[in-house]
Amino acid sequence: MKPKRHFSFIGGATAIDFVNTEGLRDGKPIDLLDGPEALEEWLIAADLLAPRDVRGRLDARTLDAVRTLRAALRRIVTAMSEDKPPRRQDVGAIDAELARAPGALALTLADGKLAASFQPRGDAAKDARFVLARMAATFLAEANPQRLHLCGGARCIRFFYDTSKSGTRRWCTMSGCGNREKSAKHRAARRA
Ligand SMILES: [Zn+2]
Repeated sequence: MKPKRHFSFIGGATAIDFVNTEGLRDGKPIDLLDGPEALEEWLIAADLLAPRDVRGRLDARTLDAVRTLRAALRRIVTAMSEDKPPRRQDVGAIDAELARAPGALALTLADGKLAASFQPRGDAAKDARFVLARMAATFLAEANPQRLHLCGGARCIRFFYDTSKSGTRRWCTMSGCGNREKSAKHRAARRA
């Protein structure tokens, strides 16, 4: 049996969850997208493609392209969170993905609700690259950089997009980094 995948969608935006598929576990780098199949499952879990449009249909080349896109997105998000302008070549990398894998959008009306939704073209590799690039581009264009932060955890490389009313979120997860930092503070206070 294949091990169950533990994808988390706690970044406040799918683009951030995508960046966070790279992380640290016990101080060692891990990549949740460790194969084409993992990428397929992530795209399904993120609600970006339907199982029938992607499952069993991606290859290593597509995964490489997706990782390149993710690296560019991470650098842009890092720059934005530090109040710096992103590098033009990283922006260009995402833009090039959009140009390379043009998708199709449709305006639909269902149950009285309008939606501009992606229409898969039947080429899973192109569809996957397009939905990810589009998601990244839309997020970057609309995000408020002041709401974009690296987790305050000492050894955490996760980002989050703060959608709270107060705008005072500090951790990727309260149960993980939040608690760890709190108990570290307690220990330090006790020692003092
Ligand atoms: Zn964290």
